[in-house]
Amino acid sequence: MKFTPQTYRIPDEAMKPFIDADEIHEFMKRPKPDFTRVREILDRSLNKQRLTLEEVADLVNTDDPVLIDEIKAAARTLKERVYGNRIVLFAPLYIGNKCVNNCKYCGFRIDNSGQIRTTLTETQLVREVEALEENGQKRLILVYGEHPEYNADFIAQTVRTVYSVKKGRGEIRRVNINAAPLDVEGFKTVKASGIGTYQVFQETYHPETYAHYHPSGPKRNFEWRLTSLDRAMEGGIDDLGIGALFGLYDWRYEVLALVRHTNHFEAVYNIGPHTISFPRIKAAAGTEVDPKYLVSDEDFVRLIAILRLAVPYTGMILTAREPERIRREAMTFGVSQIDGGTKLEIGSYAEEKHESQNLNREQFEINDSRSLNEIIDELLDQGYLPSFCTGCYRVGRTGEHFMEFSVPGFIKRYCTPNAMLTLAEYLLDYAPETTAEKGWKVIGENLSRMQDPATEKETRTRLERIRNGERDLFF
Ligand code: SAM
Ligand code: SF4
Repeated sequence: MKFTPQTYRIPDEAMKPFIDADEIHEFMKRPKPDFTRVREILDRSLNKQRLTLEEVADLVNTDDPVLIDEIKAAARTLKERVYGNRIVLFAPLYIGNKCVNNCKYCGFRIDNSGQIRTTLTETQLVREVEALEENGQKRLILVYGEHPEYNADFIAQTVRTVYSVKKGRGEIRRVNINAAPLDVEGFKTVKASGIGTYQVFQETYHPETYAHYHPSGPKRNFEWRLTSLDRAMEGGIDDLGIGALFGLYDWRYEVLALVRHTNHFEAVYNIGPHTISFPRIKAAAGTEVDPKYLVSDEDFVRLIAILRLAVPYTGMILTAREPERIRREAMTFGVSQIDGGTKLEIGSYAEEKHESQNLNREQFEINDSRSLNEIIDELLDQGYLPSFCTGCYRVGRTGEHFMEFSVPGFIKRYCTPNAMLTLAEYLLDYAPETTAEKGWKVIGENLSRMQDPATEKETRTRLERIRNGERDLFF
């Protein structure tokens, strides 16, 4: 397989509006599907076909409990067929909470005068990254409010600083960002600093609801946000994350819109987004959220299963906003990335003592505050293979060439061995003895399941080299 860098220009059709609220509402009015229809759709998805919007609409319109169970079971089967047992781990790192926007659901909104505003200084940033490295983290997502201080040059500088920090055997090998939309030049600047994924959530794809929740500030502009990932593409960032904030509008609408957004990427650039996120509204200070559309646990799990089936080849992220119980269930449906050891308070990774959450210093409340090691330990107990792999983006397997889930054998050839290699580093450098014991056992089990003798042999050789002190070996 040969991977070559690719550049994109925004084709004219990319700028045509691709979210049509009336069209999505029409899909939601389709008659409830019968058993035969739902089973046909599930079969298509299990054969790894991308579902059409009509088919996704039929799944979201299904309310028969028996069929909902079948949808969840199909998502579990698809996960086993496509993804295997890897879970990629990362941590969020909040850089600054100054914000000129007024998103009614967010603790950072400008109207929340109780929020204590801070931006990490260079020295504080270094300390935060050192603390994260000392825990074993290798992948971070940097998060910023929207503020003139957090311009493209500032973002690029923070990314470079993060990459430059090396504490002991630690290093951050992939820095993703979640930041306000930029212009094409801004994206080029940020790309040049070496980011992995650029993530931006549309929050709600329903224009009227969007206007209600974003009363002022640059984020008020729905179109500017909607087209931000197209500008990112033009700026050379072809590794993109989309998302919707569930609880602002009807979850069924948002699921269909996320699929529509994915279709737009596939039609225009011939690649889908790398990841989909589906944060659910959590408690935050100074917010005004209408409870009407808050999503129940039951519906939330159901929508994750539907998204899995709708876009079988897109990575799915579920953060510590959600409690352990929901994260556990969502992983069985194919959530492929979770955060571990998360702290949202700015500057809190480096603090020795961490008091309970203070919403005046945070964007929202988290519900899974376990340490990275506790999470890894549990993943190992459940037979998952925790991974810190950063291989693909470092050898240019991104964008059109990022085919983790779509190229037959790709996972076996690259992802599983790389997961084992990065887990081995963690076990040697950071894990307590009990976790290390479990981890080596899981690595052994995965080695014995490998089907290609050449890859197995090379993985064993590299594991031995890691035991002997080498680091950062990947396929
Ligand atoms: N300020 C940038 C922006 O809005 O794009 C960066 C991202 S913001 C710090 C990260 C994301 O957190 C938002 O896009 C939103 O989806 C989510 N968020 C905001 N308030 C939330 C809340 N109360 N509960 C859960 N997620 C929330
Ligand atoms: Fe600012 Fe982002 Fe929060 Fe909106 S969601 S108030 S833009 S930090």
